[in-house]
Amino acid sequence: MKNYNVGIIGATGMVGQRFALLLADHPWFKVTCLAASPRSAGKSYREAVGDRWAMTDAMPENLKDMMVYDAVADIDTIVSKVDFVFCAVDMKKDEIKAFEELYAKHECPVVSNNSAHRFTDDVPMVIPELNPEHLEVIEAQRKRLGTKRGFVAVKSNCSLQSYVPALHPLDKAFGVEKCLVCTYQAISGAGKTFERWPEMIDNVIPFIGGEEEKSEKEPLKIWGKVEDGKIKLADSPKFTAQCLRVPVSDGHMAAVFVTFKNKPTKEEILNVWKSFSGVPQELELPHAPKQFLNYFAEDNMPQTKLNRNLEGGMAVSVGRLREDSQYDYKFVCLSHNTLRGAAGGAVLLAELLAAKGYMD
Ligand code: NAP
Repeated sequence: MKNYNVGIIGATGMVGQRFALLLADHPWFKVTCLAASPRSAGKSYREAVGDRWAMTDAMPENLKDMMVYDAVADIDTIVSKVDFVFCAVDMKKDEIKAFEELYAKHECPVVSNNSAHRFTDDVPMVIPELNPEHLEVIEAQRKRLGTKRGFVAVKSNCSLQSYVPALHPLDKAFGVEKCLVCTYQAISGAGKTFERWPEMIDNVIPFIGGEEEKSEKEPLKIWGKVEDGKIKLADSPKFTAQCLRVPVSDGHMAAVFVTFKNKPTKEEILNVWKSFSGVPQELELPHAPKQFLNYFAEDNMPQTKLNRNLEGGMAVSVGRLREDSQYDYKFVCLSHNTLRGAAGGAVLLAELLAAKGYMD
């Protein structure tokens, strides 16, 4: 596989720090540029992050003294140093939309964690095991933008990266008719630690802005179809969601209730989960978990603290599958929100794009 020089836009933030760690020993991707807001520009990465380093592992040595650029003002310099960029910034949606397209128009592909382009109909929103075929809309997007190489590809919201992977193969096999989901989301999902958000200690906040809408609507794009250079949303299954912020550092849990068009047995569900794998496993991409969906039979599993780092935080843990009195079945799912749900999911998407020739 070819090697690529990459940039991290939003390198100083929670997701940016995860990118820095994940890319430190990457076999194909080498970080050659870091960028953030004008507040960080001109400083070394170490100075710009200051006391905000929130990872348990130390900052990679080779990045400590790398200078941070201004993601907007220094765009020409940044694109000259990289083959593509990862992007995770905290800015207004319309600013992010314009800014990511500007990178694409500079012939620099953007693999984004931001939500701004998730419903742009020629921007693929991909969970690599689930909908890799959506990458084919990139050709239509390049036509619209007038680019040869440049494009934007996004990953979906972190909340749904546990329950949508578990539902996906069940939908293919038995048809999901409706689904109710309650998520219990970690504080790193808001870019925070307990030091920076002490109100979250011993507390639950029953509101996360925009999260319930994303949790209900984004699965329909993942399960949509490419038609005439656009992704047409699926019109089913019906989702309803409640999203709560809980006092956990990392790892989003979801309690799922589901009714099928053809109700399977418990055994059939377990077999579908066990045998499910996708293109990342076939291609043996560096960040692909060997077993994507992992069922735990013990009543008190999976647990956030014990299981969030399964297969480097890229695998999904599932448990407590049982029949329900209102829906057909209920179960719980867990995924690491800044790994599979953010930086790790984006790195896996970039690996898929590289393996399929989109980064050449
Ligand atoms: P964060 O910790 O608040 O970091 C925000 C980053 O954006 C920082 O690097 C900041 O740079 C940069 N930034 C702010 N204003 C900017 C500007 N005007 N120009 C360029 N860069 C600017 O946020 P986060 O949690 O990493 O989230 C980043 C994005 O990823 C958000 O869109 C979020 O919705 C998405 N996301 C997060 C998660 C998660 O689990 N945390 C999961 C999925 C998606 P300075 O340090 O210089 O201010």
